[in-house]
Amino acid sequence: MSDAPLDRLRDYLLDKTIEFVWANVPFYARHWGLTDRPVLRGQADLAGLPPLDKATAVTHQADLLSGVETFGEPVLSSGTTRAAGETLEMRRAPAELQAEQSYWTMRDGPGDPAVGGTTLVVGNTHHGMGHDEDGPGVVHLPFVGHDNHLHHIVSVLSARDGSGAFVVDELSISVSKLKAVTAWLRRAGIDPAGFGVGRIRTNSDFLLPASRARLAAAWGAGLEETYSLSEFRAGAYACPTCGRLHFDGLPIVPEVVDHRGQVLDDGVGELLLTGLYPYMQAMPLVRYRTGDLVKVERGCPGGERGFTIWGRRSQAALDEDGGVLLAPRPVLAALDAEPLVEREPHEWEQAGLCSAGSVGRPRYALSAVGRTVHLQVALALPPGLYVAEAAQLQRRVETAVRAALPDDAGLTWSWQVPTPRVIVPAESMREG
Ligand SMILES: [Zn+2]
Repeated sequence: MSDAPLDRLRDYLLDKTIEFVWANVPFYARHWGLTDRPVLRGQADLAGLPPLDKATAVTHQADLLSGVETFGEPVLSSGTTRAAGETLEMRRAPAELQAEQSYWTMRDGPGDPAVGGTTLVVGNTHHGMGHDEDGPGVVHLPFVGHDNHLHHIVSVLSARDGSGAFVVDELSISVSKLKAVTAWLRRAGIDPAGFGVGRIRTNSDFLLPASRARLAAAWGAGLEETYSLSEFRAGAYACPTCGRLHFDGLPIVPEVVDHRGQVLDDGVGELLLTGLYPYMQAMPLVRYRTGDLVKVERGCPGGERGFTIWGRRSQAALDEDGGVLLAPRPVLAALDAEPLVEREPHEWEQAGLCSAGSVGRPRYALSAVGRTVHLQVALALPPGLYVAEAAQLQRRVETAVRAALPDDAGLTWSWQVPTPRVIVPAESMREG
């Protein structure tokens, strides 16, 4: 399976990782049910070890600590899903951060702080305060959903250097915060395109085509989706060649498995991640189940596997065996383009920072009975009064979702809008 240069490094570090974990985290011997240290010749051998799900990791989080010296406050997981009582408190070690710095220097050279622009990183404070500090080329600002922070963001984006050029040329921000900031700026009569931001890297959620186009136009900037998890410092970044995500930053091992645990080289399954020594030492996670569905594909000239995030497994339509019938992404992509679809209320809208419908995701629910997928969509207008519009929307959504599926043979559909709104008969969906 190895045809990317980074795979050789992953294979090498993986055995070092297992060696470290075996010596320092006895939990894994019990979890794996092994009395002798497994010897992994490469990533393919990982499939022989049981995955680690989040609930197990949360229950045993004290046992996951290796004893390596840590510092600062933990990074809190579950900030995105907000599942109560399921917070993994990720500890970080100075040794990890030193190793990380060495890796960047080895890969990119020592660099010159005087060259290049500045990135404004808008922090996701529900994950804790993090361990990254401001330095040459980077400014961190927390975002806590208050007017003051929006004014602060504006002042940082407006700053100019001695030659009159904008200091910040890149923004790193979650998709929902970017939407909130954009809506707030618009309402304040400030044109986001008037700042010097040329590139925006988004995190935490999908960057769906309709929103991407709208936000790129508003800022006059290129948008890049990234994938990261608060549990890991390594993430995945958009490839300029193939457009998919590659885990080609800090070394980490991604795997994709189906509901039977079979590793997929091509197709849609759940993403498992294994942090690698020496970049993950304080709290090593091996074959950690992310809960995210991804599509993995080959074909990038660089040799890296390409990934597309297809949404939370918990929000997908699954068959009785747990197989994925339909993942959220194609549905959300279709609904994101439809202004007639109601949006989930969002905390920043409720706090009065921006108007309703400017941040939240389309309101929908996916479920399955047998191999029939039920898609429930809330409409912003009473469909009983807008019959033709509702029917057209239904056809557009179905066409878009079907086009995104490689093979939906054997799948039937039903569609409805939630009561007390008018229910569109399932029959009309099948005929359509
Ligand atoms: Zn690529």
